Amino acid sequence: GKQSGGNRYHTHSAALDATAEHHAHIAAALRRGLELGEFRLVYQPIVELPHGIVQGVEALVRWHPDGGPAVSPAEFIPVAEHTGLIVDLGAWIIDTACADAAAWHQRHRDNAPWISVNVSARQLLDPELPAQVAGSLHRHGLEPRWLTLEITETAVFAGGAAVAAVQALRELGTGIALDDFGTGHSSLTLLRTCPVTTLKVDKSFIDGLNGTAQQEAIATSLSGIASTLALRAVAEGVESEAQADRLHALGYRYAQGFYFAKPVPPDQIDGILGANRAL
Ligand code: C2E
Ligand code: CA
Ligand code: CA
Ligand code: CA
Repeated sequence: GKQSGGNRYHTHSAALDATAEHHAHIAAALRRGLELGEFRLVYQPIVELPHGIVQGVEALVRWHPDGGPAVSPAEFIPVAEHTGLIVDLGAWIIDTACADAAAWHQRHRDNAPWISVNVSARQLLDPELPAQVAGSLHRHGLEPRWLTLEITETAVFAGGAAVAAVQALRELGTGIALDDFGTGHSSLTLLRTCPVTTLKVDKSFIDGLNGTAQQEAIATSLSGIASTLALRAVAEGVESEAQADRLHALGYRYAQGFYFAKPVPPDQIDGILGANRAL
């Protein structure tokens, strides 16, 4: 039972206590931040190769505690997941992204991009998620095919209910992207069980381009899997022209990374779409 196992608390190190305290502190600040409107979305363009035409954008959340500089999501998303706040924060992210996407579609019509939103394991296990996504799409008048939800392998293996949630979202008509593709242990198994529409090939494979023949062969195979399965392949973390050129030569159709654009506020996306859309 819960009481067995001896003096569990005596084995707690001071460092662990400090971490737990730190988490509790961040958790409270996050909840207050959501109430006070301290979160913002920035959007990173996803371009079509070789001309760099913007076809999609990925929403990335930023937190500005007390209106100050942004805190990295790498710091607060794990805490938000652990405490369950990601469910409410995630609902705000999806709704805000749908509102921005609907506005781009109104203003830019055929030039408007698809929008990708990251969804964590905890959100996928929330039975309300599909209805909540449907509600946001409906409220803002956004067609489901313009929304893609980015999931990770770990999120899908967090529980059987997660696969059912992905299926429900796909039935709604949204796209499903497998994020950080190739980094997990069961990326290929997941392609059999999950109705995925897009593979986002992890930056670690893109970093190896123009390197050894072996590294290039892996990057080529990953885009080959996508084209064989009729999935969209997006290369993540492209930082140089040489990489972009190589990706095009290896059969990649879409790319995302600092070489093309960093994540920017929504009004700057408007500017890009209003110009000729090429980066
Ligand atoms: P991710 O989904 O893999 O997002 C890509 C990350 O790589 C972003 O970092 C982006 O700014 C960064 N990146 C893009 N291009 C380049 C490049 O060329 N070079 C390098 N070095 N980095 C590049 P960011 O915004 O700090 O987000 C980190 C992670 O936090 C994301 O990884 C995602 O797992 C999580 N995250 C961000 N926004 C959200 C969100 O709205 N919801 C959830 N659940 N997670 C989010
Ligand atoms: Ca992502
Ligand atoms: Ca990624
Ligand atoms: Ca990542």
